[in-house]
Amino acid sequence: MKLRILGSAGAEFPDFRPPAFLIDDSLLLDAGTIGSVLTEEEQWSIKNIFITHAHLDHIRSIPALADNIIVKNLRHLVDVYAPQSVIDALRNHLFNGLIWPDFTCLPTPEEPVLRFNTIEPLVPVLLCDKPEEPRCLNGYTLTAITVHHTVPAVGYCVEHAGRRLVYTGDTGPTEEIWSYASGADALIVEVSFPNSQEPLALLTQHLCCSLLEKELTKIAVLPKRILITHPKPQYYEQIKSEIAQMGIRQVELLRDGTIYDI
Ligand SMILES: [Zn+2]
Ligand SMILES: [Zn+2]
Repeated sequence: MKLRILGSAGAEFPDFRPPAFLIDDSLLLDAGTIGSVLTEEEQWSIKNIFITHAHLDHIRSIPALADNIIVKNLRHLVDVYAPQSVIDALRNHLFNGLIWPDFTCLPTPEEPVLRFNTIEPLVPVLLCDKPEEPRCLNGYTLTAITVHHTVPAVGYCVEHAGRRLVYTGDTGPTEEIWSYASGADALIVEVSFPNSQEPLALLTQHLCCSLLEKELTKIAVLPKRILITHPKPQYYEQIKSEIAQMGIRQVELLRDGTIYDI
């Protein structure tokens, strides 16, 4: 899997963009950053978007993407997947005809730009370009796993061609996702705050390095790569040095724009 980091910060500053992870040019995990880094053609390549939770930094680029598509590429459909509570929030508070048009009915209800799909935690979703293929060898399987944040939130396990990537989204200390992370080819896990702000991390249900260390002990076999996302840019260097002090070889703080072969 080609993993392109469109954004991996816990806030917005020059060179620090909100979270969005593009897999093989077509599958997007979270949508904090799209149009500020992708060309028009690259935006049209996006077919599926999986959202972890309804916080603005994870959904905020979907409205502009829908608008960009409708201007010139009317027949392109983007499927948005998320748990029911997130879909409800998108419908009621964003694409409600007031904050932004309802692109699930535009340009026509029959052929809209956006389609919302509800997913249930732990029920795998198979994405396949060729549904007629009985075993869909080139398909992606995505499983939502509940994590612990201030609003209902999930992480995702993405499996494709024998490779496995797990993304936590925003979470404080949690449990269920770590069995999926065990032995994975890559884990994208959040660290939002420096250790000095552990009480704030716990209050807002995020992680700092000391909390992450405890979480990693819950994983039977550490993933080959552990990629840290969602740091507050104001504390980027501090978090980077605390990650280095952990002394775990495969842990790395993400930078926007990096591309990995998973
Ligand atoms: Zn959040
Ligand atoms: Zn966030």
